[in-house]
Amino acid sequence: MLNAIRSNASLWDLYAKVEEYNPQHLDEHDRFLYKYSNQNNILEPTVSEFLVQQGMNIDYPDNYEFGICLTHDVDTVFLSKKRALYEAARRGIRFRIKQATKMLMGGVSKHYNPRWNFNQIMDLEDSFGAKSTFFFMALKPREPAYNYRLDLLQHELDTIIEKGWEVGLHGGYYAYNDLERITTQRDRLEAISGKTAKGYRNHFLRFAVPTTWELLTTANFSYDATFGYSETFGFRNGMCHPFRPYNITTDTPIKIIEIPLMLMDVSLIRMQIPPNQAWPKLRSLLDSVRKNKGTVSILWHNNRMDGDWLKLYTKILQYGKEKHAWMTTGEELSQWWEKRVI
Ligand SMILES: [Zn+2]
Repeated sequence: MLNAIRSNASLWDLYAKVEEYNPQHLDEHDRFLYKYSNQNNILEPTVSEFLVQQGMNIDYPDNYEFGICLTHDVDTVFLSKKRALYEAARRGIRFRIKQATKMLMGGVSKHYNPRWNFNQIMDLEDSFGAKSTFFFMALKPREPAYNYRLDLLQHELDTIIEKGWEVGLHGGYYAYNDLERITTQRDRLEAISGKTAKGYRNHFLRFAVPTTWELLTTANFSYDATFGYSETFGFRNGMCHPFRPYNITTDTPIKIIEIPLMLMDVSLIRMQIPPNQAWPKLRSLLDSVRKNKGTVSILWHNNRMDGDWLKLYTKILQYGKEKHAWMTTGEELSQWWEKRVI
């Protein structure tokens, strides 16, 4: 199948992301953005469509028709005092003073903290027959993007794993091109989770082609879930299926599996699409993955699980259930795809 793509120069350039080798423009976080890309049809999975036309045969367990990889980056868990006051005030107006008082305890009690919501997220997903991956940060105080002590979440990590959901590593701001940071953070996570970390996503979707893939392979990760654009949803290299990346410098495939990110909640904000108006667009994205029997990867932060954001996330789960999607962790999907990726 790789040779089939190679026979078409423009598809190959897109698949291998040739334009991201020594890019001319990067944003303030050193990210390659869609606006710097030559690609002009981000919503068309052109490479996947080509492969399907060439006879790529996709099967899923239990006759599922396509895949939905559900993921949550846990950037914050504890509320700052200022935030706790704000949330308390908001609820004081909308609900009752008693509720507001409880909110003030957010920093000390997980029961009143709206971001300490791992069980609620799992219960919601479970009600649709779905599972997901939580990517946790394993940073030390004073490291950039440090927000919480992972050891305080020991019990939560145990519960997530026990229930059959996945704990992956959410690499820190500087990790994506630094093997030592990746392995140090991986070791910290594994020491607390007691389990080998299979999946990785970098904070801020910082990613360098092909460096990040190579470093994650060296660090023994099975899959990466970072590769997607922060400012738009769609298909960064024309693929709506997991794939094995190709290093054009060394002219060899890279061992890791990429489950490309196609939709992040925050992208909707960048695109100025309010969550209560987003569904038709998301539905057509999901439809085009379904049509190709692909696997759509979705990032929904744990702090966007209320109001219209929660309604939108629930709609995705509803759609997945109705259309018979395999909604599960990156770990299960990457294992399944291990022998099937091109
Ligand atoms: Zn993050």
